[in-house]
Amino acid sequence: PALLEVSGLKTYFYLENKKVAKAVDGIDLAIYPGETVAIVGESGSGKSVTSLSIMKLINKPGKIEAGYIKFSGTDFTPLSEKQMTKIRGNDIAMIFQEPMTALNPVFTIGNQIIETLVKHQKLTKKDAYTRAVELLKMVGFPRAEETMREYPHQLSGGMRQRAMIAIAISCAPKLLIADEPTTALDVTIQAQILDLLNEMKERFNMSILLITHDLGIVAEYADRVMVMYGGQIVESTSTTQLFEQPQHPYTKGLLESLPNIDNDVPRLGAISGMVPPSYHFPKGCRFSDRCPSAMEKCREDNPKLVNLTDEHQVRCYLYEGNEQ
Ligand code: SF4
Ligand code: MG
Repeated sequence: PALLEVSGLKTYFYLENKKVAKAVDGIDLAIYPGETVAIVGESGSGKSVTSLSIMKLINKPGKIEAGYIKFSGTDFTPLSEKQMTKIRGNDIAMIFQEPMTALNPVFTIGNQIIETLVKHQKLTKKDAYTRAVELLKMVGFPRAEETMREYPHQLSGGMRQRAMIAIAISCAPKLLIADEPTTALDVTIQAQILDLLNEMKERFNMSILLITHDLGIVAEYADRVMVMYGGQIVESTSTTQLFEQPQHPYTKGLLESLPNIDNDVPRLGAISGMVPPSYHFPKGCRFSDRCPSAMEKCREDNPKLVNLTDEHQVRCYLYEGNEQ
């Protein structure tokens, strides 16, 4: 069975002037034990709101409008904030782009890990200290006892992200949500952090939901991928299939804008235009005003996500009639 199952999820934000931002507008997804699933898309496509919704971290003026989130068979919908607090950081952990915002600047790294262990694992302070040192060593702090006494600002960006990972894995979560975990880091550090995540995934037998705008990272680290656009999934398949046989014009555009390492042929530019604001999608297909293949009917109705095969879904009229 799926570890995480999201069905019909809609998360809306009620803005001024009666505008409604449909940041997430009907998403289904499943994550199985031990796999890494990526959600990829440009900024503003609804990726982060999806991950925050999974954790029930949506606050006013936002609201989870419809759908359910089931984790290990438990439906999150009726759970109180108090019950969710027990789950967050324990069964599901999250790391963000900027660990500085998630780490508390006034507490030492050691205190922050100890606090998590005492709160969720009910360890004594002494046992939590020992465990925290072990965890820091595990994520690449050779002089962990010293690091325990340091404050977040004393660490480099990459080391802060390692500290965040230590906190995230401290309760051996079954699912780790990593939202642009390396976007703020240098390329070489990025790879080290992603390799570390992979190592921790194996070690703790976790699943990872990886949120990224970077298809290069998807290629390297994800088993399956969902492409998001305009608050919806427009293509979903295995990573191999996505790179070998992309179907949706948006996916193709994203792939074309990747730097090509195989040859020196200059690439065409990225997709022209911008992601539409989620309070004002174009009529019809949400990609229609940027799509090189747009047809008349694309401007009338939004296509449904259909199965091309059991393992490949696409939302585009070009494939109408090809669905299974
Ligand atoms: Fe392009 Fe039409 Fe397909 Fe939308 S439905 S992606 S506009 S071809
Ligand atoms: Mg984001």
